[in-house]
Amino acid sequence: MTKPSLADACLVSPLTCDGAMGTQLIQRGMDINECGMAWNAARPADIMAVHQAYREAGCQLITTNSFGGTRSMLERHGMATMVAEWNRLAAKIAAEVAGPDGWVLGDVGPFGDFLEPMGDTTVEELEAIFREQIEALVTGGADAILVETMSDPGELCAGVRAATSVTTLPVVATFTYQKSAGEFRTMMGTTVTEAMAAAYGAGASIVGTNCGTDLSLDDYLELGRQMVAAANGRPTILQPNAGAPLLVDGKIHYNATPAEMADLARQLRASGISIVGGCCGTSPVHLAAMAKA
Ligand SMILES: [Zn+2]
Repeated sequence: MTKPSLADACLVSPLTCDGAMGTQLIQRGMDINECGMAWNAARPADIMAVHQAYREAGCQLITTNSFGGTRSMLERHGMATMVAEWNRLAAKIAAEVAGPDGWVLGDVGPFGDFLEPMGDTTVEELEAIFREQIEALVTGGADAILVETMSDPGELCAGVRAATSVTTLPVVATFTYQKSAGEFRTMMGTTVTEAMAAAYGAGASIVGTNCGTDLSLDDYLELGRQMVAAANGRPTILQPNAGAPLLVDGKIHYNATPAEMADLARQLRASGISIVGGCCGTSPVHLAAMAKA
């Protein structure tokens, strides 16, 4: 039996996405300056164990370890030739864990620079960068493409268009917002309504938020309400951090407890968010409490 499309399934029943990967790999010995993509080839058992922990916590959506998997990001580690192989492996590892009742989100993060005129990259060049990564994620077995942590709607829309140009799989797209003068805006100043309209307009099936700059749990709840209003019946996703980041002894900490995150998840669902997951500072313990809630 073929798996239902994620875009349809998330409207039928509430789904839970997984939480952070990076912090889990650091706990397993990864250096913060290390190329996390290399672990898909060098330490696949560790990647699989993190996916497995989220799957067992009740997450139906498993996100590939490919956040820094574009050519432009791998170039920083001198590994630009590995785009195809490491992204394919990332999707293959996640697909083994997701199983027939789960979905693999092929993860695409920011390309690491600015589009023209702030940077040197043209929209055409950026779409080509994203296409190369997305093709490999699809080959490896992704069920949907996730374009995430985007603060520039121009970059997010380039990622969405790159995805729809190479695959018919649904595209999930998430912005990161900051709150200024009581309003949620992207780094580029875009409002929630404008950003979401742009993403759906570019061809994304599911649009939402992950991460965020200094947002509290109450902020995420308010953001969720605004997102549902802007989505107008279309599917939404929210992946909050475990509270606002705190700097303790030069290290960033996220202090929200699993119980607090479970409470937030319950309220987000009640407000109409289709898919709830986690971002920075969330662990399988948080996600287990959230999935149960
Ligand atoms: Zn985050």
